[in-house]
Amino acid sequence: MSGNKCRNCGSTNIETDPGRGDAICIECGFVLEDSVIISQTTFEESSSGKVRVPGHFVANDSTGAATNFGASRYVNGKESRKITLQNAQKGITHLCLQLGLNQNCIETSVNFYKMALCYHLTRGRKQAHNQAACVYITCRIEKTERIL
Ligand SMILES: [Zn+2]
Repeated sequence: MSGNKCRNCGSTNIETDPGRGDAICIECGFVLEDSVIISQTTFEESSSGKVRVPGHFVANDSTGAATNFGASRYVNGKESRKITLQNAQKGITHLCLQLGLNQNCIETSVNFYKMALCYHLTRGRKQAHNQAACVYITCRIEKTERIL
């Protein structure tokens, strides 16, 4: 890799997307180059069958103007995030159990949720929708035959 190293976890497992002009750490989801926040949490499936989130992420430590919208929910910082995560974990586990998914799928889904939370993609959305989206990605990746 040509000098691409994650500033967050130090991994060199970086995926670059020339179309969007950014680079994402495969290990932790940290975005190395970014510019614009997206207003929708839309998951697309490309022709290769790979699920991706269109648009740009705003990095964890970004304090740019783009984060002003709806930012009040995050003023409390880590504590409120922890509670959100606990609730999400509960919801995702419930959803996975209903679908008959295993523990591995639950963990993968929760990880997706953490990633989305990290980039504020869950902000202003119904938690149930966010959780369902995370479980859905997991199903697609694990090639589990599930339809929402
Ligand atoms: Zn990383």
